[in-house]
Amino acid sequence: MIKCPKQDCTWVAEAADPNERFKVNCPLCQHEFCSLCNQQYHYRTTCQQLPQITQRWFFWCQTERERYLRQRAEQDTTYQVQLNEYNQKHKENDNRNRELRRRYDELLHDERYKAENCRLCPSCQRVVERIDGCDTMVCGQDAHGGNVQSGCGHRFNWAQAKAYQASATKQPKQTILDLPRPENAIVHHNGVTCDQCKNEVNGIRFDCVHCPSLTFCEKCEQQATLQHSQENQFLGQQQHVFKLIMTPEEEAFQF
Ligand SMILES: [Zn+2]
Ligand SMILES: [Zn+2]
Ligand SMILES: [Zn+2]
Ligand SMILES: [Zn+2]
Ligand SMILES: [Zn+2]
Repeated sequence: MIKCPKQDCTWVAEAADPNERFKVNCPLCQHEFCSLCNQQYHYRTTCQQLPQITQRWFFWCQTERERYLRQRAEQDTTYQVQLNEYNQKHKENDNRNRELRRRYDELLHDERYKAENCRLCPSCQRVVERIDGCDTMVCGQDAHGGNVQSGCGHRFNWAQAKAYQASATKQPKQTILDLPRPENAIVHHNGVTCDQCKNEVNGIRFDCVHCPSLTFCEKCEQQATLQHSQENQFLGQQQHVFKLIMTPEEEAFQF
């Protein structure tokens, strides 16, 4: 059973495969969402990975981009272009970071709430909230059989189900631990093309998780993602999130 997550929308439908992740377009209110996590639909990532990806993107925009570009520019003077751009685009960057912070704060709040109140359905891995005190759960239904949230219909025992583990938590330092080190050779992503400069991607690869296909290289991402962020704002959408991919091996694992 799939239920539109918009508060005042009543649309429900039977899903062919309740364990499958797909994009749902609500025919009543036009809202688009992920069939498993109810969030804005995301590509190339599981629902479970999304919080961490969002956190990394926020840290990148907030502090890490500048640090990384400085280090790169010390080794390779062509990166001075990106560094100058960073200094010139202060206003645009601040504006984006404000929007992103809103998204990130909501995420932290959500993560904390789920960790305290939710468990995972053993069959479809959906995050399930206990509505009343009873331990007998049916994924997607309350104890009296009413549909209250999307779910696969699996029957399970609350006490035995796995608790939700928050993967994004408030951290004292907004750092990304696995950024490429400046003394190491730059990584080549063979066969992956940047949608801005049309060259093969070298260094960190940036994929938008909210667009079907949008990839940038580390030299283009600042300018290109700022523009993308303004497009999102213009369309009244939430800020799209970019996934940082350090090595081709990371992306070889497909979802
Ligand atoms: Zn709806
Ligand atoms: Zn999802
Ligand atoms: Zn389920
Ligand atoms: Zn590029
Ligand atoms: Zn996008």
